[in-house]
Amino acid sequence: MPNPTVKEVETRLATVQCAICKGSSFGIDERFMQADGEWRGICRKCYYTFPIYTDMEFYLRTQPDIPYRLKEMSCPTCNHQGVSLNFRITMSVRESIYFLTCTSCQKTYPERSSLEAFE
Ligand SMILES: [Zn+2]
Ligand SMILES: [Zn+2]
Repeated sequence: MPNPTVKEVETRLATVQCAICKGSSFGIDERFMQADGEWRGICRKCYYTFPIYTDMEFYLRTQPDIPYRLKEMSCPTCNHQGVSLNFRITMSVRESIYFLTCTSCQKTYPERSSLEAFE
Protein backbone atom coordinates (compact mmCIF):
# COMPACT_ATOMS: atom_id res chain seq x y z
CA MET A 1 0.00 0.00 0.00
CA PRO A 2 1.81 3.19 -1.14
CA ASN A 3 1.72 6.13 1.23
CA PRO A 4 -0.41 9.04 -0.03
CA THR A 5 1.23 12.17 -1.43
CA VAL A 6 0.84 15.63 0.14
CA LYS A 7 -1.29 16.73 -2.82
CA GLU A 8 -3.56 13.74 -2.54
CA VAL A 9 -4.02 14.25 1.20
CA GLU A 10 -4.79 17.97 0.74
CA THR A 11 -7.33 17.23 -1.98
CA ARG A 12 -9.09 14.64 0.10
CA LEU A 13 -9.15 16.76 3.25
CA ALA A 14 -11.43 19.15 1.32
CA THR A 15 -14.20 16.57 1.76
CA VAL A 16 -14.35 17.01 5.55
CA GLN A 17 -15.03 19.95 7.87
CA CYS A 18 -12.79 21.72 10.34
CA ALA A 19 -13.74 20.85 13.94
CA ILE A 20 -13.62 24.54 14.87
CA CYS A 21 -14.80 26.75 12.01
CA LYS A 22 -16.45 24.09 9.76
CA GLY A 23 -14.35 25.26 6.84
CA SER A 24 -12.98 22.69 4.44
CA SER A 25 -9.79 24.12 3.06
CA PHE A 26 -6.71 22.55 4.60
CA GLY A 27 -3.01 22.50 4.01
CA ILE A 28 -0.21 20.29 5.23
CA ASP A 29 2.43 21.93 7.39
CA GLU A 30 5.48 20.26 5.88
CA ARG A 31 7.76 21.47 8.69
CA PHE A 32 6.08 18.98 10.98
CA MET A 33 6.29 15.92 8.75
CA GLN A 34 7.78 13.11 10.76
CA ALA A 35 9.64 10.04 9.63
CA ASP A 36 7.02 7.78 11.20
CA GLY A 37 4.35 9.10 8.82
CA GLU A 38 2.71 11.56 11.20
CA TRP A 39 1.88 14.86 9.47
CA ARG A 40 0.20 18.05 10.64
CA GLY A 41 -2.87 19.36 8.87
CA ILE A 42 -3.81 23.01 9.20
CA CYS A 43 -7.12 24.75 8.54
CA ARG A 44 -6.51 27.63 6.11
CA LYS A 45 -9.27 29.67 7.70
CA CYS A 46 -8.78 29.43 11.47
CA TYR A 47 -5.27 27.84 11.64
CA TYR A 48 -6.50 24.96 13.74
CA THR A 49 -4.05 22.05 13.45
CA PHE A 50 -4.63 18.32 13.77
CA PRO A 51 -2.58 15.15 13.27
CA ILE A 52 -2.68 13.11 10.07
CA TYR A 53 -1.43 9.53 10.11
CA THR A 54 -0.18 8.20 6.80
CA ASP A 55 1.62 5.00 7.76
CA MET A 56 -1.35 2.69 7.48
CA GLU A 57 0.73 -0.44 7.07
CA PHE A 58 2.07 0.07 10.58
CA TYR A 59 -1.36 1.02 11.90
CA LEU A 60 -3.03 -2.08 10.48
CA ARG A 61 -0.29 -4.24 11.90
CA THR A 62 -0.82 -2.83 15.38
CA GLN A 63 -4.64 -2.86 15.16
CA PRO A 64 -5.28 -6.40 13.90
CA ASP A 65 -9.09 -6.22 13.89
CA ILE A 66 -9.22 -3.21 11.56
CA PRO A 67 -8.37 -5.12 8.35
CA TYR A 68 -11.41 -7.35 9.04
CA ARG A 69 -13.68 -4.35 9.52
CA LEU A 70 -12.43 -2.81 6.28
CA LYS A 71 -13.37 -5.99 4.43
CA GLU A 72 -16.91 -5.73 5.77
CA MET A 73 -17.46 -2.04 5.00
CA SER A 74 -19.58 -1.30 1.93
CA CYS A 75 -18.80 1.33 -0.66
CA PRO A 76 -21.54 4.04 -0.67
CA THR A 77 -21.36 4.24 -4.47
CA CYS A 78 -21.36 0.65 -5.73
CA ASN A 79 -22.17 -1.32 -2.55
CA HIS A 80 -19.15 -3.50 -3.07
CA GLN A 81 -17.83 -4.86 0.22
CA GLY A 82 -14.20 -4.16 0.89
CA VAL A 83 -12.34 -0.88 1.06
CA SER A 84 -8.75 0.11 1.60
CA LEU A 85 -7.56 2.63 4.13
CA ASN A 86 -5.36 5.40 2.68
CA PHE A 87 -4.79 7.58 5.75
CA ARG A 88 -6.60 8.76 8.84
CA ILE A 89 -6.85 11.97 10.83
CA THR A 90 -7.86 12.93 14.33
CA MET A 91 -9.94 16.04 13.75
CA SER A 92 -10.72 16.42 17.45
CA VAL A 93 -10.54 14.25 20.55
CA ARG A 94 -13.92 12.83 19.68
CA GLU A 95 -13.62 12.71 15.92
CA SER A 96 -11.37 10.39 14.02
CA ILE A 97 -11.86 10.17 10.25
CA TYR A 98 -10.76 7.43 7.87
CA PHE A 99 -10.07 8.14 4.21
CA LEU A 100 -11.05 5.09 2.23
CA THR A 101 -10.94 3.83 -1.34
CA CYS A 102 -13.38 1.24 -2.69
CA THR A 103 -11.38 -1.72 -4.00
CA SER A 104 -13.93 -2.24 -6.77
CA CYS A 105 -14.90 1.15 -8.29
CA GLN A 106 -11.93 3.11 -6.82
CA LYS A 107 -14.24 5.79 -5.44
CA THR A 108 -12.65 7.63 -2.52
CA TYR A 109 -14.60 8.86 0.49
CA PRO A 110 -14.16 9.86 4.14
CA GLU A 111 -15.86 7.99 6.94
CA ARG A 112 -16.07 8.91 10.60
CA SER A 113 -14.43 6.21 12.54
CA SER A 114 -16.55 3.90 14.58
CA LEU A 115 -13.63 1.51 14.58
CA GLU A 116 -12.02 3.03 17.62
CA ALA A 117 -13.59 3.10 21.02
CA PHE A 118 -13.74 6.50 22.68
CA GLU A 119 -14.08 6.64 26.39
ZN1 LIG B 1 -10.96 25.97 10.83
ZN1 LIG C 1 -17.33 1.15 -5.03
